[in-house]
Amino acid sequence: MGKGGSRLGAGRPAHRLKAENTASLDVAYLSRHGHLNAGSWKRLYWRQCGQVRLEGLVNAFGDHLTIDIGFHKHWIGLTQTPCHFGGQRRWFVCPRCGHRMAVLYMRHGRFACRHCQQIAYQSQSGDADDRLIWRHHNLSHKLRNLKLQPIRSRRRIQHNFLEAAWQYDTLLDKASRSIAMADATG
Ligand SMILES: [Zn+2]
Repeated sequence: MGKGGSRLGAGRPAHRLKAENTASLDVAYLSRHGHLNAGSWKRLYWRQCGQVRLEGLVNAFGDHLTIDIGFHKHWIGLTQTPCHFGGQRRWFVCPRCGHRMAVLYMRHGRFACRHCQQIAYQSQSGDADDRLIWRHHNLSHKLRNLKLQPIRSRRRIQHNFLEAAWQYDTLLDKASRSIAMADATG
């Protein structure tokens, strides 16, 4: 390590869950497959190595969705931002911290973002991933304290954040592929 805390998770215990082994909820997948259209009522499966690990029933209501898994109903808020190339980009609101997130993870029977769930991302291509994770972390901090920034840099920070968030989520998508969401059991 030796980067003076420039890594997310530096100094934390090594036994944290790895993102690769956690059932995740990916807003891009749900959006692509119509799960976020208000009134949609569809089954969702999480598969690993060809086996269904978890199944849920997703019901969308515009500003939030519910997922029934077993006897528990999970309530997750939705929000959106204008997309750089037109249209809207959808996000979850983390049920625990309230931050805008593209991926939520299941742990202890609840969905929340990777920060709240203390899930470590195991870097696969080394420093480039670390830099991206750190950049995303840094920009999201600036974004939360946008009022403290000079007016002329606010738009740039917002734009950079959305770009970094997109790359970051793509990275997480890759990492969490071992438990993949699917619309069918086959
Ligand atoms: Zn959170």
